[in-house]
Amino acid sequence: MGKIAVVPGSFDPITNGHLDIVKRAADIFDIVYVAVMNNSSKNPLFNVYERMDLIREVTKDIPNVRIDSSSGLLIDYAKSVKADAIVRGLRAISDFEYEMQITSMNRFLDEHIETFFIMTQNKYSFLSSSIVKEVSKYGGNIHELVPPIVEEALKGKFEER
Ligand code: ADP
Repeated sequence: MGKIAVVPGSFDPITNGHLDIVKRAADIFDIVYVAVMNNSSKNPLFNVYERMDLIREVTKDIPNVRIDSSSGLLIDYAKSVKADAIVRGLRAISDFEYEMQITSMNRFLDEHIETFFIMTQNKYSFLSSSIVKEVSKYGGNIHELVPPIVEEALKGKFEER
């Protein structure tokens, strides 16, 4: 049977750093679910459907990627799609402590689902959705940091305001 992975995140919005992780996961796993986690403690710029639409558009050429969302526990979502693994991106030491905590908790909740980490490329190591939003808000150039459709969507959001 094929191996299934979940790449979870807020993706508010998806950046080239996320996309790189999704592509690399899709090279290794048979099916990759990119799951927009609807975490109520965050106040997102894009709603879940907008975030899913952007991800769908920028991953449309990767046949084994599926786009989904969940507002529950990641581990329950992972079980529901029969995932073998959770894949996360790692940027810096600062990601490590948080990821270690989440991974330990997920392992406690279900030891059968393994978490894999993919190290970001150097060029994306400083890149986050929040920094992209901040720069875009003040009209800065984010051209090389996000796909063109995301750049447009960000411009649209900030013009709306
Ligand atoms: P969360 O809000 O759960 O941290 P994000 O949407 O910020 O979710 O990120 C989802 C995943 O993508 C996380 O594993 C995060 O470490 C990873 N990620 C975010 N930005 C990058 C990047 N520039 N390079 C590699 N991985 C990244």
